[in-house]
Amino acid sequence: MSRVVEITDLKVYHRTPHGPLRAVDGVTLHVDSGETLGLVGESGCGKSTLARCIVGINRPSQGTIALGGQGLGSGRADRLSRARAVQMVFQDPSGSLNPRLRVGRIIAEPLIVHRLGSTAQRQVRVEDIAAQVGLTSHHLDRFPHELSGGQRQRVSIARALALEPGLLVCDEAVSALDVSVQAQVLNLLLDVQDRLKVALLFISHDLSVVRYVAHRIAVMYLGRIVEVGPADAVWKRRAHPYTRALTNAIPDEQVRRDNIELLEGDVPSPINPPSGCPFRTRCPFARARCAEEVPQLRDRGGGLSVACHFAEEIEQGRTAEATDWPAAVGASPNASLTSA
Ligand code: SF4
Repeated sequence: MSRVVEITDLKVYHRTPHGPLRAVDGVTLHVDSGETLGLVGESGCGKSTLARCIVGINRPSQGTIALGGQGLGSGRADRLSRARAVQMVFQDPSGSLNPRLRVGRIIAEPLIVHRLGSTAQRQVRVEDIAAQVGLTSHHLDRFPHELSGGQRQRVSIARALALEPGLLVCDEAVSALDVSVQAQVLNLLLDVQDRLKVALLFISHDLSVVRYVAHRIAVMYLGRIVEVGPADAVWKRRAHPYTRALTNAIPDEQVRRDNIELLEGDVPSPINPPSGCPFRTRCPFARARCAEEVPQLRDRGGGLSVACHFAEEIEQGRTAEATDWPAAVGASPNASLTSA
């Protein structure tokens, strides 16, 4: 299996009057051809910044992104290569579709920009892609505002597929849709992937949705990957306390029986992150070591990697909630909590 994207030690720091804002803080990740990698985490954890770096909207402060085995710069030729390697589907189809263009022209736009095919060939290609996402010639003559939210997202997906990219980045692509329409668009993405063998980077704050579509899941917290592995292993083992907390919001019998911890408080400010483990200010298992040492991703077997000093004990249920840590750390657990 070949890599469609390989991200190595990626950092995105923004300058602010109060110091650097660490939106992405040393992420190493890959997506293989034909697979779906789900990227999950709360709002503000850096998921979208990472996605925007992959498609070239944001520039990283440090680290590399290789698409199809090639590192790409910011020149015109690189931008064109990148556009043909990776495309993005945004959360709000209304905001990402030109309201003055008819749907057929919107889907054809990438082909026109890249001067691919004659007018007649482009027309055939547009009708073909439209059919693949469940749109008809009737829809191609409409303007975006004449379509439903689900149909507009189908247009976004069709436009993203026009250049036959190896990777489709879907950033909260179903979050703005009604629940029933969400399922339709998710099934469409799975169907498109199966037929076209395109890889998906599926980004969401909702672990239950990610679990439904992804082969592998990466869990992100405060700019870092804290757990990554096969979807089943991440879901069933919940080896990182943050993954456990995310599952708590999911109405699942098994999860309730497991009495998973509630996730309390806000994500700390990425301008002033906690020392040591970034999750320690919200973690019920935190101890003194967690304030002193940043946990690195460690192989936990079965393809699962977890960034937690006590992942073994937590996974085996041998760790009770720590009662000693506020004294050991020398501060209130919430001392460094600020709004993201
Ligand atoms: S390293 Fe410590 S604070 Fe971080 S998740 Fe593990 S137990 Fe919690």
